[in-house]
Amino acid sequence: MKQGTGKIVIISSPSGGGKSSICRRLLRAGNKRKGWRFSISVTTRPRRPNERNGREYWFVSYPEFVALRQRGEFAESCQVHKYYYGTPREPLERTLTAGGVVILDVDVKGAFKLKKEYPMAVSIFILPPSRQELARRLKQRGTEDDKHLRIRLRRALSEMKLYRKFDYVVINRELDTAVSEVEMIINSFHCQQRFIDHRRISGLLRESD
Ligand code: 5GP
Repeated sequence: MKQGTGKIVIISSPSGGGKSSICRRLLRAGNKRKGWRFSISVTTRPRRPNERNGREYWFVSYPEFVALRQRGEFAESCQVHKYYYGTPREPLERTLTAGGVVILDVDVKGAFKLKKEYPMAVSIFILPPSRQELARRLKQRGTEDDKHLRIRLRRALSEMKLYRKFDYVVINRELDTAVSEVEMIINSFHCQQRFIDHRRISGLLRESD
């Protein structure tokens, strides 16, 4: 695909890592003005009371999800717990062509699939500060009984072992600090060799002859 000058930021973590809170904070007005956008996934999960269709997710039925997947409309799709999630390809590629920043909140498997499909993407893994804190955060959600909690905790620990596969790792001890670390990573993208405008550099070199 044609990437344009846009950038893909894949944010992933085990559940309880805190990636959704970080993503919400990244989309504050100042960053939106700079062209940062959140990739809104499609899901078969039922909508929670505080969610709005088209804001957190596009909520669809299972047959609708399958039809979209068959038409190749997803850059990646995954089953997470008992529901399906997919990253729509078209808005992602549109932001890339327009030179913006697309932020994706996906599970670990989704992060690896996206990185394969878009090798220029930057992946950031969010880790909880300790096992105790991870267990506390999972419990705090209060949506799970003890058995499911233990399953989530085990799964989170095995995902955390994959941290080396990510370009960056941010420890979410304190939300404000974690958000500013992620912002610093995104804001320094343009300094990476691969994003440098070489025409400007060659102009600079000519002038110094
Ligand atoms: P939740 O249902 O709690 O909002 O999200 C459950 C998990 O699904 C989270 O880990 C979230 O990052 C992940 N997720 C959300 N959208 C997508 C997606 O489009 N693709 C993949 N692979 N994971 C997603």
